[in-house]
Amino acid sequence: MPRSLLAALMLLVVGSGPAESADPKTDRPPNVVIVFADDLGYGDLGCFGHPTIRTPNLDRMAAEGMRFTQFYVGASVCTPSRAALLTGRLPIRSGMCSDKRRVLFPNSGGGIPEREVTLAEALKARGYATAAIGKWHLGHLPRFLPTNNGFDSYFGIPYSNDMDRVGGKGPKGRAVFWEPKTEYWNVPLMRDTKIVERPADQTTITKRYSEAAVEFIEENAEKPFFVYLAHNLPHIPLFASDEFLGTSPRGLYGDVVQEIDHGVGQILEALEEQGIAENTIVWFTSDNGPWLPFGTHGGSAGLLREGKGSTWEGGMREPTIAWWPGTIPAGSVTTELGSTMDVYTTSVKLAGGDVPADRIVDGVDLRPVLTGKGPSPRKSVLYYRGTRVFAVRMGPWKVHYVTESGYRRDRVEHETPLVFHLEHDPSEKHDVAKDHPEVIEAAAKFVAEHREKLVQPPSQLEIPLKK
Ligand code: MG
Repeated sequence: MPRSLLAALMLLVVGSGPAESADPKTDRPPNVVIVFADDLGYGDLGCFGHPTIRTPNLDRMAAEGMRFTQFYVGASVCTPSRAALLTGRLPIRSGMCSDKRRVLFPNSGGGIPEREVTLAEALKARGYATAAIGKWHLGHLPRFLPTNNGFDSYFGIPYSNDMDRVGGKGPKGRAVFWEPKTEYWNVPLMRDTKIVERPADQTTITKRYSEAAVEFIEENAEKPFFVYLAHNLPHIPLFASDEFLGTSPRGLYGDVVQEIDHGVGQILEALEEQGIAENTIVWFTSDNGPWLPFGTHGGSAGLLREGKGSTWEGGMREPTIAWWPGTIPAGSVTTELGSTMDVYTTSVKLAGGDVPADRIVDGVDLRPVLTGKGPSPRKSVLYYRGTRVFAVRMGPWKVHYVTESGYRRDRVEHETPLVFHLEHDPSEKHDVAKDHPEVIEAAAKFVAEHREKLVQPPSQLEIPLKK
């Protein structure tokens, strides 16, 4: 075989690599960056209406990108919400939820099951370099860590920053959160699978996470990459570095959000400096709503009802921004429905791949929304609390079967479900059930069909750590 023919055949097999294309940076699938805050409320950003928290970088991201005003997470607490984002599936499908333990703890023995195809695994299969930075909370035992779930590297605290409380240190009970010190929580900071610092110095953690993301972007600018930057904050206990302490009129919570915002600015700048901004989609959102029992140390859901832990809107609707210069229309605002599970599906499609066909994936492809060319394929939202469907959204309607505050024992099982028109009544104040029996009927049918098809594996959150 002549050498030239062989070379041509090789090219067919390998595809056109960067060496052959005129502009290698636009000839490859887009980079994906997800910045995921922890317990940040719908009302906590300048561009989502907060009066005293200044977020110039996120505001800029919104001005150059798209704000989603009806964007949801897969659960109202950390572990199941993160599982939903990284698997594109409702947490009940992966076993990453429970009615007994709401999240994983340092004494948990479970974690994200191997059979799940994480977003990192799906993108890695498409040739992406992958990094997880920050809070993991999908299992801290070696086999569950990011580097065993598709990420090339990991730098972060493997669970919540209020875990591993050191007994006898600092004020008792809740008071410890009002004047937090790093040494009150013995949380580990890990690099890949090794603990490199314990307790993790939380005063510099946000800054170090953002810097790690920038470093990874600079090192991988020549190939497609995926950065999952999941901040531990503004989950309590709140910590900010000296540079940010006292900078916000909102107090310590504002300082923390402003430091996260600063890091977002550094990431956008790094993408621009590397000349890859137009080939990178950056998402910003949060894992669940504000932790209201913590008063001013918790955030605000703005006009939405309740917060973290509940299936009211404040628990699961998040302030979400997508930025992709040249592709997402600048300064756009969409009221189309979206979910973190859709970030999974959209990212896999953008990478030229497809979601696993051997299981139900709940995410939909949001490309029509992002390009401003069409409506969202998402028409419904299921609001799970643990293993139960507490509510469902269909179009503008939300039907509640069970209501309960995040952290108060006030559960009500509604014989006649509550019905709210979320576009007329985003604060869920005016129940219109008696005027809309057809909505109740359609929702019941939808939920029954969903539950019939559901395959529910055992809960990972109920597995104890073996001594
Ligand atoms: Mg959280």
